[in-house]
Amino acid sequence: MNFQNSYLSLGSSFYQQTLPIPVAAPHLLLWNASLASLLQLEDSVIDEHQKAQIFSGNQVEESSTPIALAYSGHQFGHFNPQLGDGRAHLLGELIDQNSQRVDVQLKGSGPTRFSRQGDGRCALKPALREFIMSEAMHALNVPTSRCLAVVATGETVYRETPQPGAIVTRVASSHLRVGTFQHFASRKDFDALEALLDFAIERHYPDIATLQTDRAGKASAFIEAVGERQITLICHWLRVGFIHGVMNTDNTAISGETIDFGPCAMMGDYHPGTVYSSIDSQGRYAFGNQINIAIWNMARLAESLLPFLDDEQQTAIAKAESVIKQLVADITLAYKSMLGNKLGFDFKDDNDWLLIETLLNQMQAQELDYTLTFAELTQFIETGEISSQLATSLKAWLPTWLQRLGIEETTTDSDISALIKKHKPLTDALANMQNANPLVIPRNHHVERILALYQEAMLTGEKQEEAADELSQFLQVLRSPYAITEHTTKYQDAAQDKDQGYRTFCGT
Ligand code: AMP
Ligand code: MG
Repeated sequence: MNFQNSYLSLGSSFYQQTLPIPVAAPHLLLWNASLASLLQLEDSVIDEHQKAQIFSGNQVEESSTPIALAYSGHQFGHFNPQLGDGRAHLLGELIDQNSQRVDVQLKGSGPTRFSRQGDGRCALKPALREFIMSEAMHALNVPTSRCLAVVATGETVYRETPQPGAIVTRVASSHLRVGTFQHFASRKDFDALEALLDFAIERHYPDIATLQTDRAGKASAFIEAVGERQITLICHWLRVGFIHGVMNTDNTAISGETIDFGPCAMMGDYHPGTVYSSIDSQGRYAFGNQINIAIWNMARLAESLLPFLDDEQQTAIAKAESVIKQLVADITLAYKSMLGNKLGFDFKDDNDWLLIETLLNQMQAQELDYTLTFAELTQFIETGEISSQLATSLKAWLPTWLQRLGIEETTTDSDISALIKKHKPLTDALANMQNANPLVIPRNHHVERILALYQEAMLTGEKQEEAADELSQFLQVLRSPYAITEHTTKYQDAAQDKDQGYRTFCGT
């Protein structure tokens, strides 16, 4: 493996150079073969034993200089100047098959200067959970960090109960966060802040470097560009029903990827107020609040770059406000367009919004499952078949929607199937819908059931093969979320208890 370490050029205030703390008995549990081939790791011919050694941190490659990155961040709206990788080691960067530079980071690899009270470790279930969720998100076409490996440590970690420990290897296009910018802005270290800005631009937004020559132009274009990627990201989350759960500024990647899967969950029934995180009692990070929070986080990024926007503070603030205002307009439109796609049309005007809103209101009032409803509407356009249950629930709404798709002659007793076949524009509508509406998502109840099964098997030594098979089957299904594959139907169902009382946890 040939690691590079470009962060080192930023200087020591950006990181602590520190080695992973070796673990007792590393054992490879999961390996992401398709990611490994993207990273061209197959050429390095490493066997299972070596993988366990390297991706537990027990063996450090010659080319790697492990570091823990410094950052700060707003957590639930409150600024914490002192965060940083408290249980992670960045091994270095690799250049993937598409010539993209990615970070390879161990999580759960031991304490660092940034650990505060934490033990620097990670429990098995959250490590597996991050692997499952990120792989699902990737297949759903959501920008995301991914997991290369999960290695059991052979050690126990102490949470509420003793649990088996694990280390997860995360691959991300970088680990720069909004909180990284806040870190240097809050310390008024403007040289570091400018170096960081240039570094981030070169890595993620190289066009800015060619188009903008002065610092003010670069800073403003950068906030805009990061904001646009956040907009894309959040719209994808809202498209698939993802609730991140802890959208603190330290968990907001400059690259626009989903990172930090701690308390994330998938929404079942459509309700914008849906929250599963045990610590989010106010619903700050509820499903339907994610747009507001993304904008709030972008305002924090803009704030940290304020001194670069203009020498005059008032002018700088005005510039920042105008960028943020534009982002609000853009995300509002992007959100509506995304929902238009889910219904097979290109969003145009207030009438379209009324149509969308009416559906969402009815879904909320009647407690309809978000994924299943859109999947069924897609199927309806494809085959003309709809369950009597959904047809009844959406009786008044369906004809107006079909009219929007160009089926003027819709009546309650028309042969919809024939009509749909007759109408050519529906090919476009269907293609739109099939791309926007997954047939299967990583349902909370399946994720938790499989994690419990897997952990139990590991602890007792019984039914290990069965647990591993079930996990691999689940992953296989999640890797094709827009198609019905051999086992898809087994994992499509909503939770019987509608996820009532389901709670997720941070600080895993
Ligand atoms: P997270 O909730 O995973 O985004 O983490 C928030 C902060 O707490 C980051 O600075 C983490 O590095 C740190 N942290 C979380 N869990 C641990 C742990 N077990 N040991 C040390 N630091 C931790
Ligand atoms: Mg974090």
